[in-house]
Amino acid sequence: MTPRAVVKVGTTSVTDRHGDVDYPTLVQIAQDVVDLRARGWSVVVVTSGAITAGWAEVGAGRARPTDAQTLQAVSAVGQPLLMHAWRNAFAECATSVGQVLLAPLDFSHRGQYLHARRTLSALEALGVVPIVNENDAVADEEIRFGDNDRLAALVANLVAASHLVLLTDTDGLLTADPRLDPAATLIEEVTSFDTTILSLAGASTSGVGSGGMASKLAAARMATWSGVTTVVAPARVEGSLTRAIDEVPGSGTVFRARRERLSARKAWIAFAVATRGTLHVNQGAMQALENHGRSLLRVGVVSHEGAFTEGDAVDVRGPDGALIAKGLTRVSAELFEQDDVVVHRDDLVLVRRV
Ligand code: GLU
Repeated sequence: MTPRAVVKVGTTSVTDRHGDVDYPTLVQIAQDVVDLRARGWSVVVVTSGAITAGWAEVGAGRARPTDAQTLQAVSAVGQPLLMHAWRNAFAECATSVGQVLLAPLDFSHRGQYLHARRTLSALEALGVVPIVNENDAVADEEIRFGDNDRLAALVANLVAASHLVLLTDTDGLLTADPRLDPAATLIEEVTSFDTTILSLAGASTSGVGSGGMASKLAAARMATWSGVTTVVAPARVEGSLTRAIDEVPGSGTVFRARRERLSARKAWIAFAVATRGTLHVNQGAMQALENHGRSLLRVGVVSHEGAFTEGDAVDVRGPDGALIAKGLTRVSAELFEQDDVVVHRDDLVLVRRV
């Protein structure tokens, strides 16, 4: 089987300090992608930077707007600038690219999900490098991904990649914020998401990218649970992608894929879908789910909250209020009494094990 990698390039790496597309960096990354392909890999690029590049074009030096509508409109200006630059960068390496814009709904509707997967695999068969971004211009603000780290993790899941490489403006995950602590060092390997690791996240302070380390950790967590090894590595180092895949010491932070991988669908339920309600279950139901892998039946549900409809994701909480599972409900809040099976076990993920 062809090994596959998804490489995501963040806004601060795609654009320069004026917000314009940083073409030399794109050329360097394109060369890296082409080198990896020459070794038999198939590579999907996820790019950020549309909003920043768009504002550099039409903002006339003014401060970046904050309202969603203007930002979405600005992305429509920046996306073609970005694609033009990627196209030229890859053309320098004699490789064609194709633009694929995805929205959250493309991942939540099974038919749409499979359709996107078929398109990406057809691009692969054509030898074309897909350049993916969120469909920022038209996606409903409420349901947008918001950051491309998550999108990239979902794409890695979608194409069954073995590796996800998040190229960014740091060397990887560090033991402390290097601006505050000069002794900060690179963490080369993460095997579990314990509280120490999560506390290192900090917030993004670049002002332009929307991700930051917290969103990288969330993406890495989602990807590693889908069996995808994830590496956070510096974008502006020549050959960074290939070095990350080869796990050259010092090339970045590797998050090891778990061996018991969740199916793509369950990883999506666990990490990607926003919940629309909560089901409170009794002790017996909690045990049936956690110890016996059963479906959630209506008799075990003590109460429910939220205006969810059939197919929506819901949280399942135990008698002490702790979150025990996420799942897709088969019934709506309104017609709750209509079916005995509320969440089928195929649509249920036990999050305490995640
Ligand atoms: N889709 C956004 C853009 O292209 C980027 C989101 C992010 O910063 O990750 O501008």
